[in-house]
Amino acid sequence: MNAYDIAIGQLERAAAAMNLDPQVHTILLQPKNELIVNFPVKMDDGSFRLFKGYRIQHNNIMGPFKGGLRFHRDVHLDEVKALAAWMTWKCAVVEVPFGGAMGGIKFDPRCHSAAELERITRRYTHALGNNIGPDHDIPAPDVGTNGQTMVWVMDTYMNFVPQDRKNAVRGCVTGKTLSSGGSQGREKATGQGLVYVIQEWARENHFPLDGCTFALQGYGNVGAHVARLLSRLGASLVAVQDDSGAIGAGEGLHPARLAEHVQQTGGVRGFSGGDEISAAEFFATNCDFFIPAALEKQITAETAARLRCKVVVEGANGPTDSEGERVLAQRGIDILPDILANAGGVTVSYFEWLQNRRAEAWTLDEVDERLHRTLVHAYATVRRLARERRLDNRTAAYVHALERIQNVYRERGIFP
Ligand code: NAD
Repeated sequence: MNAYDIAIGQLERAAAAMNLDPQVHTILLQPKNELIVNFPVKMDDGSFRLFKGYRIQHNNIMGPFKGGLRFHRDVHLDEVKALAAWMTWKCAVVEVPFGGAMGGIKFDPRCHSAAELERITRRYTHALGNNIGPDHDIPAPDVGTNGQTMVWVMDTYMNFVPQDRKNAVRGCVTGKTLSSGGSQGREKATGQGLVYVIQEWARENHFPLDGCTFALQGYGNVGAHVARLLSRLGASLVAVQDDSGAIGAGEGLHPARLAEHVQQTGGVRGFSGGDEISAAEFFATNCDFFIPAALEKQITAETAARLRCKVVVEGANGPTDSEGERVLAQRGIDILPDILANAGGVTVSYFEWLQNRRAEAWTLDEVDERLHRTLVHAYATVRRLARERRLDNRTAAYVHALERIQNVYRERGIFP
């Protein structure tokens, strides 16, 4: 089962729960556009290498296509298609006026110098040409990319628009560095949003976060910010895993020291503030919140059976496969689904895009306050639907998104 099968399975479940219009259903089963580009890049040693890049534009009925850009050795068409579809639902869940897209290049960024990364990013952007743009399709950071990557995309894009349009197209990407047109609070936004969603769950369930525990898979942008922000509320990080290994500590790992170690060594392995544990021990760690913040398909029938947590909070996109989801449901473990829990990133991306359009710079308090309001509203809507229609949280989130999208199709009709 690949990521796209999982995404389609989720869509089918929600379509059945809400009687989705068959025409809209058919349209949403496939992305609107699938772009694949093969482009040569000069390496530092003078040789050339051919790279394969993708940009999948799933749907733009609610607004410009929007979604991340991933650099990873396992990027493939069906993965990018799934991630693009999840973006369509996510934007609709948080009522941000964007559609869904996703891009990626299949390579391992850790095997390249900064100069090579810059040339790969610029050649990819050039190959996409006018298929991206501030009113059309707006990339953002994802696995293996960051603010610097986005600035290279922006600068390349700026270089093929007329002189007098350059500054008007800053919003062709979001997640930029602050100095090059980014927003306060964007870097931590996905983690911050996830923490706001956990706070809402805790409020609804009268569960004190002070003194609670969590385990985290992935210590990159999303994971490291979640660790820092949840710890501030009195929660303790008892286990962490990334692609270098897994570390546990009953008394809690220090998020800032761990972040420093990851910065220096590239992974959590070898961190002196905890003990090395196996992957099996990591998944079996006793905790309140299990937070996947790495890649898809990590919670399978096998790993779901091991989990000893109250709730799975999906920081990653598509971390739970269909079998894993079935096991969690049988075991009574709640899921706060990706299209709600990690929507903070795209929400603040929208704020960045608005600031670029208006030539404004909002304060961090303003960004956080608007993000909080957006996610509290989305959480309440999803939970109300789940209760009223007796749905699981993921299906309720899908139904909320699909009803909004279906309404627009009904009003606009299908051309011609
Ligand atoms: P990142 O590149 O900053 O970090 C990825 C982390 O995953 C790293 O710690 C890496 O070691 C770990 N990892 C990779 N392969 C792994 C494996 N096989 N097992 C365990 N860990 C592994 O990426 P990120 O931006 O933090 O994104 C993480 C997840 O969050 C992705 O699913 C992404 O799509 C999703 N997401 C990111 C954003 C964002 O704003 N960056 C927004 C929404 C969702």
